[in-house]
Order: sequence, then C-alpha cells, then structure tokens
Amino acid sequence: MPEPSDACRPSRLQPSGGAEALRLRLTATWYWRLDAQLRFAQVDEAMQCLGIELADWLGRSPWDAPNRMPDAFWAAHRGVLLAHRPFADLQYEVPSPRDRTAGLWLQTSGEPLLDDQGGFLGYHGYGREVTRERLVEVALRAREQRLSSVFEQSPLAIIEWDTRLRVRRWNLAAERIFGWAPEEILGQHARILSRPEQHHVYELMGEYIAPDSVPRKHMAQNLHKFGHELPCSWITSMLHDDRGQIVGGMSIVENLTEKRLAETLIEHMAQHDSLTNLPNRAHLLTLLEQALAETESPTRRQLAVLVLNLDRFKQVNEAHGHALGDQVLFEVARRLRDEAPRSALVARLAGNEFAVVLRQDAGARGAHALGERLRLCLGAPYLIDGHELNCTASVGVALFPGDGADAGELLHHADAALTHAKGSGRNQLRFFSASLKQAVTVRREVERDLGHALRRGELMLHFQPQVDAQSGVMVGAEALLRWNHPINGLIAPVTFIPIAESADLIVEIGAWVLDEACRTLRQWQDQGARGVSMAVNLSAHQLRDAALVSLVAGALQRHGLRGEDLELELTESAAMEDPTVTIDVLQQLRDLQVRLAIDDFGTGYSSLSYLRLLPIHRLKLDQSFVRDIGTEEDDEAICSATIALAHKLKLEVVAEGVGTELQHQYLRRHGCNVLQGYLFSQPVRAEQALAFALTHAPAD
Ligand code: C2E
Ligand code: MG
Ligand code: MG
Repeated sequence: MPEPSDACRPSRLQPSGGAEALRLRLTATWYWRLDAQLRFAQVDEAMQCLGIELADWLGRSPWDAPNRMPDAFWAAHRGVLLAHRPFADLQYEVPSPRDRTAGLWLQTSGEPLLDDQGGFLGYHGYGREVTRERLVEVALRAREQRLSSVFEQSPLAIIEWDTRLRVRRWNLAAERIFGWAPEEILGQHARILSRPEQHHVYELMGEYIAPDSVPRKHMAQNLHKFGHELPCSWITSMLHDDRGQIVGGMSIVENLTEKRLAETLIEHMAQHDSLTNLPNRAHLLTLLEQALAETESPTRRQLAVLVLNLDRFKQVNEAHGHALGDQVLFEVARRLRDEAPRSALVARLAGNEFAVVLRQDAGARGAHALGERLRLCLGAPYLIDGHELNCTASVGVALFPGDGADAGELLHHADAALTHAKGSGRNQLRFFSASLKQAVTVRREVERDLGHALRRGELMLHFQPQVDAQSGVMVGAEALLRWNHPINGLIAPVTFIPIAESADLIVEIGAWVLDEACRTLRQWQDQGARGVSMAVNLSAHQLRDAALVSLVAGALQRHGLRGEDLELELTESAAMEDPTVTIDVLQQLRDLQVRLAIDDFGTGYSSLSYLRLLPIHRLKLDQSFVRDIGTEEDDEAICSATIALAHKLKLEVVAEGVGTELQHQYLRRHGCNVLQGYLFSQPVRAEQALAFALTHAPAD
C-alpha cells in the first residue's frame, strides 16, 4: 500500500512560507464551483496540493481537467451531474503528481446551484484529499478479513458474548465441538452449553464482566447439543468499545475429550502390564493401600495377599521359547481372574509372579481355601500351540493386619512365604510366619549393611590351601570371602552371598574378590611361593556380566600374573543356566589360559556328558560325598566312580572338605588329584596361607 505522497501534505508543500503553509494546512479542504456548462468557474488554492496550477483547472470540465476523474468513475458520476442531483462523499483515485505508480484518493461532495426560478446555474461543493484515511480503511478491512479467517478456521472454538452472556458470534470449530449451528445458537444464553444442575455457575459469571482485562481460565464439563458431556478448557477475555466500556466477552474453548482419552490411556499403560492387562506391581501397591484404608471403617476387617508363581517356569521359556512362555502367562492371568472372587484384586508383579488380594473378610481359612483353589487351577495342563505343558504352582500368603502394616510390607511378606513354599519342594501353599519374619528381618538388615560393607573395608578374604594328594605339596588356595560385620562379627558367605546376588551387589563384590585374590597371589609369589594357583568362586550373576572376561584379563595384567595362575570356580547350576552363553564366556576365559573348575560337583543336575562340552579343567567333588567316606558305601562309590570318569574325560578332581586321614587315604588311593579340607588347613589369613605354602613347597 503506497504511502500518501508528500505533495498532498500541505504543511510540507511550501516549507519556506510559514503563514501560507499554515493556511494551506487549515484549508486542505477546497471549495469548487462549476458553471451551468459544468466547467470549473472557481477553484481553491488548497487544490494546489494536487500539484496542478489553478489556472489549468478554470474553464475545464471535471472529465478533461488535468487531474481528471477516472473514466469508469466519471461515467457513473456524469449522470448525476447532468440530472442536476446533489452528491455526497464520492471517492475516486487520481494519479499522484509526484509518484505515477501511486494514487491519490479524493473525496468530493456537491449540490446544484439554482436561481430563484429553479434555473440551473451550475454546481458547487467541497473536495478533499483522503488518501491516508483510505489507506487506514483498507488496512483495517484487511485486518478484519484476516481476523475473520482466523476466527473461522481456528481449530479452537471462538465464541463472542454480549454483556448478558448471550452468544453473539460462533465459529465453525464451536459448531463442530458443541453441535449447534450459528442460526440455532446466536442470541442463546451461555447456559445452553451446560447441564441444568450447573446453571447456577452463571450467576458467578458476573465476575467475568469485571473491569480488568486479564483473561480468565477455567475448566468446565460442558454439554453437546445431543446431550453428551464435553470436558473443555475456557479462556475468556473482555471486549471493550473505544470508550473502554465492556461490550461483552470472547472465549477460546478447547475440547479436551481426546486429550483426556489419551491421558487415560497413558495412565492405564503406566499402571498395567501390557501382556495380561492386569495392574502392575506399582499400581497394585496403590490399590492395596486404598483397600487397607477401607478396612478401617466401620470395623477393622482382615484382608489377605496371595503371591503366586509357576514352578520351574524358566524351563518352559528355555524349552519352548519366550513367545510360548508369554502365552502361558496370559493363560495364568485368565485363570486367576476367572477363579478369584469378583471383588478380589488380581495383578502381575513381575515375569512369572502374580498377586491376588482377597478384600472380603475371609480370614486365614478363606485365604487358604482360595490359595489352594488357585494353586490347583494353575496346575491344570496348558494346551498351547499343540503343546501340552504341565506346570505346578506355589503360593505364599500374608494376612492383614497380622503380617504387615502397609501394602509394601504385606507384599514383601507374601513373597517371603512364596520363597518358603518353593524351598519346601514347590507346588505348595505357605503362610507367612514368625520364623519367616525373623529371616526377612535379618535379610533386610544384611541387605542394608552389605551395601556399605565394601566401601567400609569390612570385607576380606581368607585362603584355604589345596594340596597335591600324592606329595602333600601346596598347589593352590581357594579365596573365600569373609564379612567382618562391625556388630554381628564374622558373617559366613552362605548367609550373605545369596543376598548379595539378589540385591545385585555380587558383581561389584565379585570384582573386588578377583582383584584382591590376584593381588595376594602376587605377594606370595614375590615372597617365594612357587607352583601355587589361586581359585576364585564366581557367581552365576558374574557369568552373565558382559564385562567378566575383561575384568579377569585386567586383574591378571594389573598384578603381573599368568592365566594359569588363576582358577575360576563355578557351580553346576551356574554352568547350566544359559549353556550357549556359558560356553562362549568360558571359552574366552580359557583363551586367557585361565583354568576352570566345577564347584560342588554332584549336588546339581548337570551330567558329565554336558560338562564335557565346557572347556573345564577340574571337578571339585562336593564335601557331602567326601564326608561319608568310611561310613556310607554309596557315597564312597560315587567318589571313586566320579574320579574314574573324570579322568577318562581328562579332568582333574579336587576333593573338598577332607577332614580325616581315612578320607585322605581313600581319595589318594583312588587317584584324586588335589585335596582341600580342615585336615590340612582351615581357611586362614593371607600370611598364614603363605606360611603354609612355604612349608609345603616342592622339593628343589
Ligand atoms: P565352596 O566354594 O564350596 O567353598 C568351600 C566351603 O567349604 C568353604 O566354606 C570352606 O570353608 C568349607 N570347607 C572347606 N573345608 C572344609 C572341611 O573340611 N569341613 C567343612 N565342614 N567345611 C569345609 P565357606 O568359606 O563358608 O564358603 C561357603 C561357600 O560360599 C563357598 O563354597 C562358595 O560357594 C561361597 N563363596 C565363598 N567365597 C565366595 C566368593 O568370593 N564369591 C562367591 N561367588 N562365592 C563365594
Ligand atoms: Mg568354591
Ligand atoms: Mg564347593
């Protein structure tokens, strides 16, 4: 839009002549007169702002005047003049004398001049330049158009009200959201958008007609034309006239239905297990807390928490794959939902662990009956993808209020009862009990303290010498972990290692043991020990740790040891856990020349034929067999047969727990290679073990 030309700003027209410029500015409206032939008979100096000499106008008619009207305009106007009719505020554009690309807008009004008999004498009237007003008007119109397209195309409803809350404007989105067409809603009161019982809020709407202009935000449960509810958010501002008076309001309204649905869905997903759609552990805890709160009134009721899982489910997964395992779990969820009372809560706590909360006051007997029913129903065969799977289930039960004060504790104790059921041979139901409580308390304390034990230097290693069965020379030592608890004294590894494993501390502790054992052997070697290797126990968790191989290599390198100086012991069950991974990791360790031994051999389920596939070097015959040498013929037979078989497979045999001379002689006779036990030495401190090594050293 071109700016109006400077030429028509009278004040600038004659910058030097102060009085003249002022006159022109004040007379920017000019007078004109046409004679009876419609020729200019009089023009005003103010017309000079159009850039034309006044003399050029006089005697010429408007259509051939220098700054003549546009043809189209003149064609329309000429008729008026010829008919001698008055005209008012006619606007037309003429070229600007300064800038040919821009135009000047002029406005003119005129009336015929008549003599006393009504004879036509001509016209006279006023003209003025209105370019600026015209530009402002065009800009305003464009803005209005833009606003109106925003109004119509906005995805949010935009509603204008008058001061009495009657709808004045209503855009397409408002129609889409609320269902009312403009012709139905315009003039209606705002209350049409909500339920009758909410109409009283409009009495408060008076506050919207408040003098301040701060937009107000509020949420409302609105009503669609067809009666369904719409959760909406409203932002309402006041509309003022040019004197600042409130003339109504304008609201921008968002329909939150879809947002709410998405929020509900996200919330549901966060609270439920995606496989079974049952509440997850976190959500169960919340629901259980609510159920506990409800038991308070009117009389304190009992409530039972049952935790269940399928026995040996891991094997189902391993044998048939996780997809089938998932189908089994899906079926477990279905059976639990069908079998549990409608008022019970059913949840999936973790992989193969489910919970059922019996909310009605059924007491221990009711909980027992339900637990047994669930155990039996989970124990029925699973027919999946043509497979018939037979599983059993175990159940642990904790009762409120006796077995726990809050949801977390109840669940924890039901879990402890489940572990107890598993430990008692599986396919059983067990209640939480006082003795379990004791075990749980100890476990919790140990778990808490163990976290700090490593940092506080409370962990240390003892070393138990291993001697050659024939020569009695010390050929190795087993590093055995000890925890010197500041209050409870020395704690045995059988107590805290399983806890360290379940609390995920064992990998960190195991790394420390490895480093400390290697450091000690280095010291021994430096002090003259020869031909002694160091055996370190590995837990199954460490075997699964991707960093194990580099950890071992690092410890050997740090302390300047050779691979064959180190022996790693793993139990049969650890070796069996994930055979393909195990074989791969063991092979990498073997590549470092590290030796590998199967600990507690004979107590697990592994077979020699499977162990043959592992790159192992030794079997450690479990002390339970060794202990009975001389008393139990069967155990003796197992010892001698194992030694013979191991030798056939080119494996060495170490006997653990050798406590008597009789055992010593028997094992020697049957060719056992290495002996370890109290008969030779208990696990002792590093200095004592070194002394043993030096006194039981090979002859030069
Ligand atoms: P293990 O590896 O089978 O260790 C042998 C256990 O038998 C040791 O018990 C040892 O003190 C005991 N023992 C040795 N000779 C005799 C004997 O003649 N008679 C009797 N009654 N017992 C004997 P400890 O030190 O209590 O260790 C128990 C288990 O804790 C170990 O069994 C091992 O599985 C585990 N463990 C010990 N230290 C570590 C470690 O650093 N890491 C891991 N992951 N496990 C460890
Ligand atoms: Mg061991
Ligand atoms: Mg052992």
